[in-house]
Amino acid sequence: MNELLELEQKMLACEACDLFRTRTKVVFGSGSTSPKVMLVGEAPGEDEDLSGQPFVGKAGKKLDSMLGYAGLKREDVYISNSVLCRPPLNRNPSRQELNACKWRLDLQIKLLKPKLIIVLGKIAAEQIKGEQIKGPLKQLFPENLQSPWVDYNNETKMIVTYHPSFHLRSPEQAYKITLPHWTQIKEWVANGS
Ligand code: URA
Repeated sequence: MNELLELEQKMLACEACDLFRTRTKVVFGSGSTSPKVMLVGEAPGEDEDLSGQPFVGKAGKKLDSMLGYAGLKREDVYISNSVLCRPPLNRNPSRQELNACKWRLDLQIKLLKPKLIIVLGKIAAEQIKGEQIKGPLKQLFPENLQSPWVDYNNETKMIVTYHPSFHLRSPEQAYKITLPHWTQIKEWVANGS
C-alpha cells in the first residue's frame, strides 16, 4: 500500500485527542496526490465532518473562487487541515489537539512533496511552525515583493494568507489585504511555478 494511503488508514482510526469522541468523520484531505500546490486550513466544520471532505461548505466555495483566480482547480491541488476532526461547535482547536495532529501534517507534506504550501490563517501557520505566533498574522505576509516566499524547506516554498472565512466575515477588507497574495500565487502558477 502506498504510504499516503497507509497514513490515511491509520488516521481514520485515530484516537490521539478527544476530538475523536465527537467527530462524525475524519477529514484526512483530498486532491491530487502529486500536487504542485498544497493548502492547509484550520479544522473541519459541520459540512466537512458529515462528508469527510475538506472545505465543502461556504468557506470551501470561497476557496474555490480564490483558487480559480490563481488559475488552479481543486483537482490540481491537495487540501488538508491543521487538525483532521471537527472541534465541537467549531471552536478553535486546542494546543493539545494541534500537537496530537502535528506529526500527521508534517508526514502528509513530506509524502506529497508540494512545491508550494498555501497556509490559510493563523492556526494553520502556528501548526506548521509548531508554536504559537505572537502578534498579528500580518507579520507573516509576503509584503516584501523582492522575496515574497518563505522557505518551508529546500524544495518547498510557503505563502501565508488569511483563511477564507475572513473573506466571508469581512469581504472588502479581506479582498484588499489578500489580493496581492493571490496575485503572486497566480503569477507563480502562470510562470510554470
Ligand atoms: N475550514 C477549514 O479550515 N477547513 C475546512 O475543511 C473547512 C472549513
